[in-house]
Amino acid sequence: MTVGPDVSGDVPTKLRRPLVLMYHGFTAAADPLPGCSDPHELLLPIRRLEEQLTHLRDRGYEFLDVAGYLRALERPVRRRRVLVTIDDGMRSVGELAAPVLQAHGVPSVLFVSVGLVTGAGEPPADEVVKPDGPLLSADELQALPATGMELGVHGWDHSSLVGADVDALRLATAEARSQLTDLTGTTPRAFAYPYGWHDERAAAAVRDSGFDVGFSLYNGSGRHAIDRVDVKPGDTLTAFRVKCVPGYRSIWRASRRVPAVSRAARTLTWRRG
Ligand SMILES: [Zn+2]
Repeated sequence: MTVGPDVSGDVPTKLRRPLVLMYHGFTAAADPLPGCSDPHELLLPIRRLEEQLTHLRDRGYEFLDVAGYLRALERPVRRRRVLVTIDDGMRSVGELAAPVLQAHGVPSVLFVSVGLVTGAGEPPADEVVKPDGPLLSADELQALPATGMELGVHGWDHSSLVGADVDALRLATAEARSQLTDLTGTTPRAFAYPYGWHDERAAAAVRDSGFDVGFSLYNGSGRHAIDRVDVKPGDTLTAFRVKCVPGYRSIWRASRRVPAVSRAARTLTWRRG
């Protein structure tokens, strides 16, 4: 079976929406950490982030901030554009990623679970993947917008919103938005679903809470659940390039349904690197 995305990325023949990348934490180590140190594959070697930003700039990508991204939603163009998003608010984002992004002049948006920042909430005990590592404090968060990193909401305590009841949805969306506003003095306009998981009711809660945009993972469905590309610590630059081509997200979605496509997608992203 031929899957066939153009990995050279040289043929922007149609209008496109910006690429949205999803990161989590970072490590100063030169190579990805072993599984025992990074069990959920969330900590990207910071030098790989630098390589990826350089690659995108060399390929002619324009780096957007949230305001630019919102404008881009209204007006797709042929030009390559990208929004950098980071989930969870781990301390390594402030220590390692923010200086690199600032040095490269790259804006970004960091999604935090405000109940975990204030200490009023705890990560859900029954979830498989929780934010790894220490989280940024409220004071540390407040310093980030000056570096070009906008803050957004990642629920209240990182609970999944899939199947959540009305009170839980309100806490994770409207209340979390209000609390982050109180904490930072700025009203967040972007939301990212914990784990990237959403359902219709969750997306409606995000919309009705006043967020201008919401981000899921690969299963996008409209302006309040836009899909993103998950950058993993083990992604070589070749794998990263493949993930950035416009067809990659469709291939990934198809791969969930068709085993042959799944094998082809794995080959493209992993074996080539
Ligand atoms: Zn998260």
